[in-house]
Amino acid sequence: MTDQILMDSFSRRVDYLRMSVTDRCDFRCVYCMAEDMEFLPRQQILSLEELYQLAQSFVALGTRKIRLTGGEPLVRQGVVELCRRIAALPGLRELCMTTNGSQLGKLAAPLFDAGLKRLNISLDSLDPTRFRELTRTGDLAKVIAGIDAANAAGFEHTKLNCVVMKGRNDHEINDLVAFAIDRGLDMSFIEEMPLGVISEHSRAEAFYSSAQVRERIAERYTLIDSAESTQGPARYWRLAEAPHIRLGFISPHSHNFCGTCNRVRLTVEGRLLLCLGNEHSVDLKAVLRRYPGEPKRLESAIVESMKLKPYRHNFTLDDEVQVVRFMNMTGG
Ligand code: SAM
Ligand code: SF4
Repeated sequence: MTDQILMDSFSRRVDYLRMSVTDRCDFRCVYCMAEDMEFLPRQQILSLEELYQLAQSFVALGTRKIRLTGGEPLVRQGVVELCRRIAALPGLRELCMTTNGSQLGKLAAPLFDAGLKRLNISLDSLDPTRFRELTRTGDLAKVIAGIDAANAAGFEHTKLNCVVMKGRNDHEINDLVAFAIDRGLDMSFIEEMPLGVISEHSRAEAFYSSAQVRERIAERYTLIDSAESTQGPARYWRLAEAPHIRLGFISPHSHNFCGTCNRVRLTVEGRLLLCLGNEHSVDLKAVLRRYPGEPKRLESAIVESMKLKPYRHNFTLDDEVQVVRFMNMTGG
């Protein structure tokens, strides 16, 4: 256990790390990747041991929550063992993962046994053809089997994530809510963010605000504003008809959530990103490889990096790409 904490220059405590364990993925979601992606060569990415050492240093500095993400974290060989080692770090309260669900059919139970506490699973459509269009390669049946495997393995508070795009999946919002109610899962609706250059649709034209999503939901359900917060960017609502689930709205455009930001992101290249919507970063892989076996060096680089954390992002609603890296590089 540690008394140390990480604090940025705006007196925000940073105790949440999102770690990308791969930039690769078995899907090519239209809002996240281009159809032809070039992935990083192996020597450029962190080894499992390096990922573990970084997690260890962050936890030594007071990090209480780590989320593994990517790319698709479950396509990284050895990820279950990595979970087991990170989950056992004393002082860490919660190890979670964001996944597209495609591998959960076989991995949900081993992940649960390894100490992973919670899952966020992406689900943008319940129509197999549209699901394939939006993910370019995904198989809806496999993902639904993965969601059911997660429930059966004992995961609680699993959350579904849906990126809403006008004209592509906005008409499915209430069917997705019904699915979440039926499975007893929370669900978050996300506004698309301008990360990376995509070609399939205009982000400005596809923009569908969280307020519009709520209007759609109000056509079928009674929404109750809830003051609940998880310190994250989502704002939560409940449904009178199904009070057992929560609906979250992540609105990087229409509601700026930077004031209470408590998180940083680590890319699989070992670059620490201080803000989702800005390029400020520090190369922790360089420190790790220059000073092997000297965790104090790494820890002081992490402490120093907090000075670079900007106050806020400034996404705007035009088709200009404001951050050139793709979401799979960012660690969503
Ligand atoms: N592959 C995993 C998955 O899809 O859940 C984890 C990585 S993915 C980058 C993490 C989350 O980011 C997903 O819920 C995805 O829908 C979301 N995402 C990706 N690109 C986005 C974008 N441009 N705007 C908003 N959310 C995005
Ligand atoms: Fe892969 Fe997740 Fe990006 Fe989709 S959102 S392409 S599943 S990393």
